[in-house]
Amino acid sequence: MYDVSVIGGGVIGGLTARKLARYKLKICVIEKENDVAMGASKANSAIVHAGFDAAPLTLKAKLNVKGSEMMERIASELGVKYRRNGSLVVAFDDKDRDTVTELYERGIKNGVRELRIIERGEVLSLEPNISDDVVCALYAPTGAIVCPYELTVAAIGNAMDNGAKLYTNFEVSDINKTGEGYEIISSNGDVIKSAYVVNAAGINADSIAAMAGCDDINIRPRRGEYILLDKADGGVVSHTIFQTPSDMGKGILVTPTVDGNLLLGPTAEDTDDKTDKRTTPNGLSKVLDRARKTTDRIDPKHTITSFCGLRAVGNTGDFIIKSNGTGFINAAGIESPGLSAAPAIAEYIVELLKNDGLELEEKSDFNPVREPTHAFREASAEAKNKIIAEKSEYGRIICRCEGISEGEIRAAIRQNPPARDLDAVKRRTRAQMGRCQGGFCMPYITGIIAEELGIPYEEVTKSGKGSEINIGKTKEI
Ligand SMILES: Cc1cc2nc3c(=O)[nH]c(=O)nc-3n(C[C@H](O)[C@H](O)[C@H](O)COP(=O)(O)OP(=O)(O)OC[C@H]3O[C@@H](n4cnc5c(N)ncnc54)[C@H](O)[C@@H]3O)c2cc1C
Repeated sequence: MYDVSVIGGGVIGGLTARKLARYKLKICVIEKENDVAMGASKANSAIVHAGFDAAPLTLKAKLNVKGSEMMERIASELGVKYRRNGSLVVAFDDKDRDTVTELYERGIKNGVRELRIIERGEVLSLEPNISDDVVCALYAPTGAIVCPYELTVAAIGNAMDNGAKLYTNFEVSDINKTGEGYEIISSNGDVIKSAYVVNAAGINADSIAAMAGCDDINIRPRRGEYILLDKADGGVVSHTIFQTPSDMGKGILVTPTVDGNLLLGPTAEDTDDKTDKRTTPNGLSKVLDRARKTTDRIDPKHTITSFCGLRAVGNTGDFIIKSNGTGFINAAGIESPGLSAAPAIAEYIVELLKNDGLELEEKSDFNPVREPTHAFREASAEAKNKIIAEKSEYGRIICRCEGISEGEIRAAIRQNPPARDLDAVKRRTRAQMGRCQGGFCMPYITGIIAEELGIPYEEVTKSGKGSEINIGKTKEI
């Protein structure tokens, strides 16, 4: 019997579990996939928005500004890469200038600090590669970038280090109300009992809410396709550059990532299919065309991968974060700026649990700090040599593009939450994320996973059941 069960191992579930792990509570995170960070939290623009987009007084506006202010400290505690690079919304004509002015006024009402409109000369001094057609921009120095899946993995890892339990491959398919709380039932018939429940199931939060009797939530998926360019292009811009937003989203952006790549996207296309994460020639060429309007310094030959994320668009226009009155909290419709707002959403959810009667007594031994997974990669040559002298596996480079050693891969499999497939290793270490996208190192990483988990080589998957990549031997010896 858990005190609180959090359904969904995304950034919202992860930071909520971490917040709850401060208290004397028995908590768990329930995730349907083989790893955490498998939903929108792994495929988004990775921007910590300053907070000028959302309409004043909405939850989106309040929690965005607060979350963005909290993010730097949380990222530092969790050893997650974060960079306050500032953002620009660029205007190409008078109509855009009006939109930029509207965003400025909204931002001031929302309490965004240091916001100002700058003219072409200053835009050019900040971004020398900006298009000749840009006339002015909204400049938000408080805008930032973070690695969203690293943040999610680290939040859940830190919650686990502080006592939380993680259930993966547990697809919630039914929920019963009992005298003591709730029974959460998986598609395999497993049952977890819990006094309180948090529904942070992203795109499926509406069906989970309905299982607990909340029928008024409806989530529609909206696809967003991206192009990721090589690190050689990471310096084309230094700020996050948006074009003016529309009803469908914040428009196509061009931004550096915390790891030094250049990210372009996303598209915005409504769909009925909650699993459709394809990228399409049409979507990707739209991304490229529009991004080139911001700067003509984009070379599509430097594309290393493309991906698609699904926004969970709710039916109220705002985040839907509320209790059913009996200890079941829904966190639904957490579309953008959900990543930016996540630290504040987690606090808000814990307040709702408290209002529903959850007792919060602080633990004396809660440790908010997590060793960064990139510590070895970024250490000095001297520090690296010292580690290699003690553990020789740190001296064997497995991923040549990103320079990731066997030691780092083994650590990712042993650390909380343990990496148990190839993509999970990739999200924790960056091995397979470079120019060759795993072409060279994947067979070696497969072998390391098999050895660490004690399973046959052929059973190692790309990202859980149904993604088997080694289906047999080419030669019998
Ligand atoms: C294209 C795009 C761009 C975005 N850009 C930004 C941005 O730049 N800045 C920003 O602030 N926000 C951005 N967002 C929004 C942000 O990504 C989300 O708000 C945030 O990731 C939502 O996190 P979550 O935990 O609610 O959902 P998710 O990350 O989707 O997590 C939900 C989890 O629940 C699990 N789950 C689902 N059903 C079940 C079930 N039945 N049983 C058990 N587990 C289940 C899923 O597998 C998943 O792991 C963007 C989103 C998209 C899609």
